[in-house]
Amino acid sequence: MKKLNAFGPWILLFLVLLTAIPVILHYKGFNFAKILGVMVVVGIVTALWIWRINARKKAPRNERVQIDTNDKFWLKEHISFYRKLKKDDQKTFRDRLGIFLADVTITEIDKEMPDKSTCLYVGSSAVIAFWGLPYWNYADLQEVIVYPSNFDEDNQLNERGMIGGKVYHGGIMDRTMILSLPELKKGFAIDNDKKNVGVHEFAHLLDKSDGSLDGVPPEMGKHDREVWTQLMEKEIEAIADDDSTVPEYGATNKAEFFAVVTSYYKECPKLLKINHRELYEVLDRYYGKDLSADK
Ligand SMILES: [Zn+2]
Repeated sequence: MKKLNAFGPWILLFLVLLTAIPVILHYKGFNFAKILGVMVVVGIVTALWIWRINARKKAPRNERVQIDTNDKFWLKEHISFYRKLKKDDQKTFRDRLGIFLADVTITEIDKEMPDKSTCLYVGSSAVIAFWGLPYWNYADLQEVIVYPSNFDEDNQLNERGMIGGKVYHGGIMDRTMILSLPELKKGFAIDNDKKNVGVHEFAHLLDKSDGSLDGVPPEMGKHDREVWTQLMEKEIEAIADDDSTVPEYGATNKAEFFAVVTSYYKECPKLLKINHRELYEVLDRYYGKDLSADK
């Protein structure tokens, strides 16, 4: 009903113009009425088109993969972030997980179908990295390719490869993420080392959602952007001087710093609050959750 109300004045305008046509036809002649008629038709088509686009944008996401009782049990067993959430939040978590799994293709190398557990690990990483924010589409991510081992710079499988996860910024792989399954699992199995490769890679997607992979996520308030940028620069120096509890990889550059500290914040919020209160507070304002309260 609301949509119809918003559209009401337009319908009224077009009706008035349509009734005007025979009148104009009578007094002013054929050509003028013809132009007016064409304008009305073009106007109606354009209005309907805009309305359709808006309606589609606002449409709730109905498609989602069903998270069944077994999955719920699995989540409690394997995802400590989920286990520690309140009941209502657990429901939101499952809901977002279901939407993610319906939206994004997960491909497991050497398998016709990906394992359910692999899908749940990947989806949980996405939900945790974006937890607290309104539902976003993960920087238009289309596919996550899961490798059975680590890989090297050329994306070749390599047991001794150093890379456990990768996202792209631009190029044909822009909407693809690569994750190593052992690293992905390790991220959740060890839940007190401030590291989680899945959450790390999705934090990169959050960072690049505004078009730049620069360590500053989208829609952070102006004041916090400035504070955050200064804190990043200060802390990167501290890491280099071996005077920080932020994992060393965070000193690589600002983008890595954001991904590393986001994983730290999501996995060990209390520890981050104790050791780096300023970093914690900016992130807490950004995500809108006091994670240290229940973790
Ligand atoms: Zn990274």
